Amino acid sequence: MPSTFLPAPEILDSPRGRRFTDAAPQALTIPGTPLPAEAPVVIIGGGLAALTLAAQLWHHDIRDYLILEREPKLTGRFFTRVDNVSQRVLRSPYEHHPGAEGHRDCEMLDFARLHWSWLTEVEQHEVRMAQSGQRGVAPIDLFESYCSHVAASHDVTKRARSAAVREVVRAGDRWQVVTDRGSVRASAVVWAVGEPRRPAPDTWDTHSPRVRFWDEPQDRNIDSRNATHAVIGSGLSSAHIVHDLCTRGHRVRWIFRGKEHYQCADVNAAFFRPEGRAMFSQRSLEHRARMLTAERRPSIMFEFRPRLQAWEESGQLSVLRETEVSALKDCGAHVEIAIADGDTVQADRVHLALGTQMHFSPGVRGAQIRIHRGLPLVSDSTMELAGAPGLYAIGALASCALGPAARNIDGHRVAAARITAALQSALPKPDNPVDQTPSEAST
Ligand SMILES: Cc1cc2nc3c(=O)[nH]c(=O)nc-3n(C[C@H](O)[C@H](O)[C@H](O)COP(=O)(O)OP(=O)(O)OC[C@H]3O[C@@H](n4cnc5c(N)ncnc54)[C@H](O)[C@@H]3O)c2cc1C
Repeated sequence: MPSTFLPAPEILDSPRGRRFTDAAPQALTIPGTPLPAEAPVVIIGGGLAALTLAAQLWHHDIRDYLILEREPKLTGRFFTRVDNVSQRVLRSPYEHHPGAEGHRDCEMLDFARLHWSWLTEVEQHEVRMAQSGQRGVAPIDLFESYCSHVAASHDVTKRARSAAVREVVRAGDRWQVVTDRGSVRASAVVWAVGEPRRPAPDTWDTHSPRVRFWDEPQDRNIDSRNATHAVIGSGLSSAHIVHDLCTRGHRVRWIFRGKEHYQCADVNAAFFRPEGRAMFSQRSLEHRARMLTAERRPSIMFEFRPRLQAWEESGQLSVLRETEVSALKDCGAHVEIAIADGDTVQADRVHLALGTQMHFSPGVRGAQIRIHRGLPLVSDSTMELAGAPGLYAIGALASCALGPAARNIDGHRVAAARITAALQSALPKPDNPVDQTPSEAST
């Protein structure tokens, strides 16, 4: 009889808040220093993709770059988002982490082993799985400390400034990066802006205090135990919210269009490998766009399945599958959720887990950026935006070139290596090559 491997759910209960290194959390806090007038390379956005690119640039002696991030901390948006959905472990395996491709720095698995006694037994089991070449996932707080370590060991934070970029304007053969705190002139600009959340349809009253988006903080004080919560959406964030609410004893109605779909990674694992990327790049633009749409289908890590099934069987969780929501209305005492055939569902609180969308922003003046179905066309080999020399994209905006995994931590490494190689040829060589020795334990 065939057997099915189901990963155990206990890893979802990993603790949060441990500091695994002296570098955390200051190593990610952006200094309040003024903006320089010029920088050879400006990176817009200081998230996980920018951190990986910065580590790669460091290893190739391109150290005069500038990161512009509108949040006070590097990688801040990612950790705020995971905390707002109560996510305790990464979805991606241990080998997917920020850092430079092709360099033997301290990897996240090494970092976990260095902090062995800090890990729970369940977390230690994940490390053993990863060591034996199988999928093992890392706790969020270990990952956050590891990000601090990467930032500290590659001197990243001192090259970051807090600023919201409004637009990029052609200025002769260079670019003017216009922010809310002044402008910076650059030879090369990299979009590392991630993805904004997907908005709700206009017919949904999202201004009600009873309705919140997945990436907004949850006000736990107003949550009486008897309240009924509705969660709309079928991706990993919705599963985390449902899991958190059910764990805290609430009754939950989970509403989504199709049927729930379980898989390990959020895209087919082939797209993390060179052959998957090669297969993608051999397709026409139209075919690539179709593949990207197909791979954005929401899915949930297998670890959730036993608990979600048990809550559904007990009646604490009711799941409304294949249900289209047409409107949301705050009726004073509760929110009315209109579904097909004139039916409604009532809830005291509504959580919208509608995911993210790809969006090219901030815009460019003085060059025609070619956009296909919302995504910029990008060179497969350099990540340079078509028709705009000196402008590059990493993360979700590089999906046209790298495929569905471009938005994931592992995809950032591939894009960062290609952008770095392109910048090495495009930028003038430094007069005094800088010291090769990493400033912390990263050899
Ligand atoms: C809840 C959740 C869990 C996830 N878990 C995983 C996982 O386990 N593994 C995985 O591989 N992927 C995961 N992802 C996907 C994840 O979003 C990416 O891997 C990662 O965050 C993308 O990094 P990024 O730098 O492209 O975007 P972000 O981390 O979002 O960083 C982009 C940064 O750009 C800044 N920015 C944007 N516009 C501007 C501007 N105009 N001016 C200045 N700054 C700007 C933002 O403030 C933000 O800090 C997850 C996503 C979410 C939402």
